[in-house]
Amino acid sequence: MSNMIDFSIHQLRELLSRREISSVELTRQYLDRINEVDGRVGAYITVTPDHALDMAEAADRRIGRGEDIHPLTGIPVAVKDVLCTRGIRTTCASRMLENFVPPYSATVVSRLETQGAVMLGKVNMDEFAMGSSTENSAFHPTRNPWNLEYIPGGSSGGSAAAVAARLCAGSIGSDTGGSIRQPGSHCGVVGMKPTYGRVSRYGLVAFASSLDQVGPLARNVTDCAILLQAISGYDPADSTSAPREVPDYTGALRPGLNGMVVGLPREYFISGLDPEVEDAVRRGVSILESQGAEVVEISLPHTEYAVAAYYIVAPAEASSNLSRYDGVKYGLRAPEYNNLLEMYKKTRSMGFGPEVKTRIMLGTYSLSSGYYDAYYKKASQVRTLITEDFRDAFRKCDVIAAPTAPSPAFRLGEKSNDPLQLYLSDIFTIPVNLAGLPGMSVPVGMSSDGLPIGLQLMSGHFQEEKLLAAAYNIELEAGLEGQLPDL
Ligand code: GLN
Repeated sequence: MSNMIDFSIHQLRELLSRREISSVELTRQYLDRINEVDGRVGAYITVTPDHALDMAEAADRRIGRGEDIHPLTGIPVAVKDVLCTRGIRTTCASRMLENFVPPYSATVVSRLETQGAVMLGKVNMDEFAMGSSTENSAFHPTRNPWNLEYIPGGSSGGSAAAVAARLCAGSIGSDTGGSIRQPGSHCGVVGMKPTYGRVSRYGLVAFASSLDQVGPLARNVTDCAILLQAISGYDPADSTSAPREVPDYTGALRPGLNGMVVGLPREYFISGLDPEVEDAVRRGVSILESQGAEVVEISLPHTEYAVAAYYIVAPAEASSNLSRYDGVKYGLRAPEYNNLLEMYKKTRSMGFGPEVKTRIMLGTYSLSSGYYDAYYKKASQVRTLITEDFRDAFRKCDVIAAPTAPSPAFRLGEKSNDPLQLYLSDIFTIPVNLAGLPGMSVPVGMSSDGLPIGLQLMSGHFQEEKLLAAAYNIELEAGLEGQLPDL
């Protein structure tokens, strides 16, 4: 079979278990495609062909024996380069970790491995996951597969572009303020940030520990549910992971939404929202309605403070987390120095890119004595108000529907000199992280320039099934499923 890369995960599962294809053949086709196409897209930082083919052979043996087969056994996936992979370099798209080879794997990675998934390689991102366009990678930018002049979104831009360009069957990203949902939206793929605590963060290189969460990106909602299932669950190695059972996520995917109440937050349909995005999102909402959901207007009154609060809390945590890169414990060390202090300074000046330095300085400033109360404490109070907004809203509805991003993808370089513009474009994705809630982006339309538009769904803690059900119904009716760029 010559076109195996066109099939989605649940179709491949069938073909593999009927042994109509082998994982080795499938993996070879993906590796060939990466060789052919990724020079233009730039989704991967490190491709691991030998490792992938070993994993594929092992998967084929497992399938041949007919035992211990999981939904991902033999399926080729890509992993954001923020997750530690034992024996395989993990760069975080930073010079600081350019040659860092972790001695252990993140729990998410070991889970995928145990279940027999085939890792094709590590994908690009904004340095230390700070950014919204993947232009902050220290190595190279990633391009949007729908139009190579445009950014794929970020920070999980490599994960989203790899899925859209058929450079993997599905991928794993991380989301601190929108980094799975926003690139998902810009690349026309499904992306989910699970509830804080749903997925282990062990081995995820920390950006802002109270906001970070690992999640899947996929070609469709079913594949997203399969990946989520594979990575979810309690992990004793992450004290913030929740000791809760993992429901059957694919079981939540049914046509019809009778009994579901969908809230439309007034504060998410504001001036500045691109009219094409608004139209597409409203069409998506009418699909939810036609599938049986009741639509009500709701209010999340503190939304306008979310960006400001996030850009205090996230850099504050980052400044603390990134203090570990001191030239002693991990990664880079400046080659020449006269004393310890100079070694620290040179190492950190060389190792970090400009955006990371900005965040470290912002964070250090807002935590310093005399400023702590005015900034960090205030931001934490705002965070509580935002969490309460959601709690009140979920008394009136099951799921909230909104845009994922205020506009479709922009051109490479267009916002590089305007950090504030870039920060403001996180307005719709950030609140969910501040509140620890799950959020998801599902393709809902295309702009007149041929760029994808995503609709965002949000729900209460550990209610991922509701998101999946609503997204599945949008996918059934929006007629975009499986639509991917040619390249
Ligand atoms: N764009 C946001 C930031 O730059 C979110 C990034 C993320 O979710 N990792 O911080």
